[in-house]
Amino acid sequence: MALKKESVFDTEKQHHNLDSKIIVAFEKISEVYRVLQWSQAQENKISPIQLQILVFIKYHTPEKCKVGYMARDFNITKATISDSVKTLLSKGYLNKVVDTSDTRSFTLSLTSEGEKLASKVEHYTHELKAPLLDLDASKKEVLFDSLTELIYKLQRNGIIDVQRMCFTCTNYEGDKNAAHYCKLMKTELTKNALRMDCPEHLEVVK
Ligand code: SF4
Repeated sequence: MALKKESVFDTEKQHHNLDSKIIVAFEKISEVYRVLQWSQAQENKISPIQLQILVFIKYHTPEKCKVGYMARDFNITKATISDSVKTLLSKGYLNKVVDTSDTRSFTLSLTSEGEKLASKVEHYTHELKAPLLDLDASKKEVLFDSLTELIYKLQRNGIIDVQRMCFTCTNYEGDKNAAHYCKLMKTELTKNALRMDCPEHLEVVK
């Protein structure tokens, strides 16, 4: 069924439409991220994308710490990532490890200065934790469940690219609703145990 194009920002209509209000709420949350990232980055004389790159490299394996992979993961162009990587290399926060089998390809790792900076800036999300801690556990479960489903659908519709979540993993078995099983860990997964960024994630080949 084709979706009727109606602006979610039309306040008259928005007041009576829960979907529109949720979409506007997402926009407000994305503003929170933008503001928090920006202020942490500015304080440390880097850009928000450079902040994201440092934190990403701190927690991901070398085969993912490549310009192309990060561009897909952040949903931005390779050129934008390349520019930020160049700056981080020149500031001494990153090391470049050239692939011996293909000299055009390289992985990135953190220098000791990069480690220090990543450990400092990664806490930019702290302000989001306090209100979440106050939220009732059952509400959090519903929120996580809904977000998991939404992110999966956005990925399936091609809006976002790389996701390392259970629903997009070859090792996942289940109905994406109530029954979840990880073939790798050979274990049932509760809804709360579903992962958003799993190191063992194996992308389903489409
Ligand atoms: S390997 Fe990780 S992402 Fe894949 S199903 Fe198991 S827990 Fe989920």
